[in-house]
Amino acid sequence: MNQLIFIQNGEWVIILRINFKWIHSLRWKLLITYMMISFLPLMFFSLGIYNTLEKHYIQERKAELQRQANITAGHIVVTGYLKDSTIEQKRLFHSDIQQTSKEIGARIIVVDSKGIVKNDSNKVDIGKTILQKEVLAALQGSDVAYKQPGSNIIHAVASIKDDKTQEIIGAIIISASIEDIYVSLKSVQKQLYILVVLTTLVVGLFSFYVSGVLIRPLKELVQVMKKVTEGHLDQQIQVKGKDEIAELSLAFNHMSERLLEVDNSRQEFVANVSHELKTPLSSIKVLSESLLLQENVPEEMYKEFLSDITSEVDRETEIINDLLALVKLDRKDMALSFESTYLNEMIQSILKRLHPLAQQRNIDLIYDSRRDVYAKVDAMKLTLAISNLIENGIKYNEENGTVTVILDADHQNAFITVQDTGIGIPVEEQKKIFERFYRVDKTRDRMTGGTGLGLSITHRTILLHQGSIKLISEEGEGATFIIRIPLHQNS
Ligand code: ADP
Repeated sequence: MNQLIFIQNGEWVIILRINFKWIHSLRWKLLITYMMISFLPLMFFSLGIYNTLEKHYIQERKAELQRQANITAGHIVVTGYLKDSTIEQKRLFHSDIQQTSKEIGARIIVVDSKGIVKNDSNKVDIGKTILQKEVLAALQGSDVAYKQPGSNIIHAVASIKDDKTQEIIGAIIISASIEDIYVSLKSVQKQLYILVVLTTLVVGLFSFYVSGVLIRPLKELVQVMKKVTEGHLDQQIQVKGKDEIAELSLAFNHMSERLLEVDNSRQEFVANVSHELKTPLSSIKVLSESLLLQENVPEEMYKEFLSDITSEVDRETEIINDLLALVKLDRKDMALSFESTYLNEMIQSILKRLHPLAQQRNIDLIYDSRRDVYAKVDAMKLTLAISNLIENGIKYNEENGTVTVILDADHQNAFITVQDTGIGIPVEEQKKIFERFYRVDKTRDRMTGGTGLGLSITHRTILLHQGSIKLISEEGEGATFIIRIPLHQNS
C-alpha cells in the first residue's frame, strides 16, 4: 500500500511516498511481536521497581524523622524548656531547636498542650495555634509520620510527655523535604529505561536476524511456486534440516513431482491417442491409394481392400468409443445409477454373450457361482468392466485353455474372480497394466485387436464403485484378476 504524506513546512509542501508493504511481511510481524514481548514486561518490571523503591525510601525517611522527633521530644522534657519560661531558658530553647534543625536538615515546631506554637526553627509561626488533626492526635498520645498530600514533604509528629507525671505537655512536629529521594529515584528510573530500550533493541535486532534466517526458505518456496505457476513444473527445493519448513519443502517437492508426472502422463496420453487414431487412418490411406494407383483392378481385389478398410474403420470406431467411455468415467460429476442387481444372473449373461468368442479358440468358460449375491451397482458399467476381463482371459489364452469366473461374497463385499490359463503378465509389467493404451506385447496385442483401454475402463469403473481390483499373475502361468465391490454404496 502506497501512502502519500503531506508535510506542510512554511511554503513548502513535501510529498513523501512511503511504501507500507513491509508491514505485512512475516519478518516485521515477528520483529514487532518479539519487541513488544520484551518491552512490555520489562516496562512493568521497571515501574514495579520504581514504586517499591519509592515506598521503601519514604518509609525509611518517615521512621528516621519519627526517631528524631522522639529524641528531640525527650530532650525538651529533660531540659524542661516547656515548663520554665525565663528569658534565658527561652533563648536556650530557641538556639537548641535552631541547632537541631540545622543538623537534621528539617523544620522543627514545638507546640504546648493547647496547640500554641512555642518554638519554630523557621521563626514564622510562633504564637499561632495549630489545630491539625495529626497534631491533635499527638496531643492525645498517638505519634504519627505522614506525607503531606500534593507536596514532597514528610511530617513526623510526636507527643512530649512529662517524665514524672506522664502528662502530655506538648507536641513536636518535624518536617523535612524528600526531594532528594526523588532525585535519586529519577536517576534509577533513567537507568531502568535505558536498560529497557537497549534490551528491546537487542531483542529486535536478534529477532530481525533470526526471522530473516527462518523466513529465507519460505521466500525461496514462494519464488519456486511462482515459477511452477508460470509453467516450469520441474522445480525442486533443497531440503535442509528436519523442521516444519523442511517438511513443507519436502511436501512441495512431492507435489511438484506429482504435477510433473500428471503433466507427463497427459502428454503421453495425447501422444498415444494421436498415434492410435493415426494407425488405422494410415492403413486406410495405403489401401485406398494402392487401389487408386492401379489400373484395371479386379473386382475381388476391390472387395478385399474395401473389407480391410471397413475393419480399419471399425477399429477406429472402437478406439473412439473406448476413449469416450473413459472420458465419461473420468468426469468429476460422473454419477453412476446404482440399483440392486442380482450379480449371479449378470455374470451368467456376460458368459453367454462371450461364449461364441471362447468357442472360436476352443476355450472353456467355467462359472463357479458360490452363493446368491445382490449388490447395489451400475449394472451397465459393471457388465462392461467384467466383460473386459473375461474377453482378455479369452484373448490372451492358449488354445484349449480355460477361463474361470468365481462369484463369492461376505457380509460387506462381493468378490468376482476372473482366472485364465493364458500367457500371464510379467511381474514388472503389472504396475502399469491399468494405464491407458498400455500393452504388454505391443505388436502381438495390436494384432489381437485390443485398444489398450479395456483394463483402464475396468479399473476406473471399479474405483467408482468404491471397490478395488487386484492382479495375481506370472509370465506363462495365466492371470487372475480379483474384483471387490461393496454390497452397499455409501452415498
Ligand atoms: P487390450 O484392449 O489391448 O486388451 P487392455 O487394457 O484390456 O487392452 O489390456 C492391456 C494389456 O494387458 C493387454 O494388451 C495385454 O498385454 C495385457 N493383458 C490384459 N489382460 C491379460 C490377461 N488376462 N493375460 C495376459 N495379458 C493380459
